[in-house]
Amino acid sequence: MGKIIAVAVPKGGVGKTTSVINIAASLAVAEKKTLIIDFDASGACSIALGFSPEKISGDIFDVFSYSKSIDKVIHKTDIPFLDFIPALVPSYQSEQRLEKLSSNIMFIANVIRTLADTYDYIIIDCPPYLKGMTTNALAVSDSLLIPIRAENFSLDALRKILRHVEYIKQTYNHRLKIEGIFFTMFEAHTKVSIMAMQDLQENFNGHLLKTVIPKNVTISESAFKGIPAVLYRALSKGSQAYLNLATEIMSKN
Ligand code: ADP
Ligand code: MG
Repeated sequence: MGKIIAVAVPKGGVGKTTSVINIAASLAVAEKKTLIIDFDASGACSIALGFSPEKISGDIFDVFSYSKSIDKVIHKTDIPFLDFIPALVPSYQSEQRLEKLSSNIMFIANVIRTLADTYDYIIIDCPPYLKGMTTNALAVSDSLLIPIRAENFSLDALRKILRHVEYIKQTYNHRLKIEGIFFTMFEAHTKVSIMAMQDLQENFNGHLLKTVIPKNVTISESAFKGIPAVLYRALSKGSQAYLNLATEIMSKN
């Protein structure tokens, strides 16, 4: 039985999508059969994996709206062991419609559960808010992985999602656990980073992962190239950090 991990925090630009892509690619490099599912209508995972719209033959929202079965929207990537289900929302109207469909929380959870036997890891990229798709993701996941950025460090967003986890556990998914919290775009020498690190150690130490992802130009460059950083330049500091993070996650499981 594979493990389903949601990457979420109700804040944009903290490195959720970057983390999903690079952790999943690192797991695939370690020959773990891995599936990325994009739950964010902005579709950033497609860009980061080099999928232009004409290469996409169906998406997670086709599954939500009962127009395709889930096995018909799984795309092979260029990376062995890595598959991908995109999210493409063509219009505001369809986004509104989906918002309604996403209230059918147990439907999508049950559909995604059927894939858990096929993969070692399923990693879900969430939008920067809790309602709708993030709630769907948490209802089906075994654990939640939370990226946090020190520069605009927000204990608030962190507390908010941890409270939401308690609600999800009581309502939809009592198995949900915290996989861990980790820093992204970390700049070790800055005062704000030191303060943020102390804050996290004092308040959330049990959940803080050892690996820290540094701010690194290879990571932003690779997103433009449409190739995960861990494959684009495996020896860069950022790539090495993501490979270590994947190893840390695998060793916990
Ligand atoms: P989110 O999904 O939380 O909105 P993204 O993963 O899209 O965040 O990251 C936001 C921006 O920061 C992107 O342009 C991405 O390339 C860049 N970025 C993410 N992680 C790093 C990093 N470690 N170093 C440098 N840039 C990064
Ligand atoms: Mg994102």
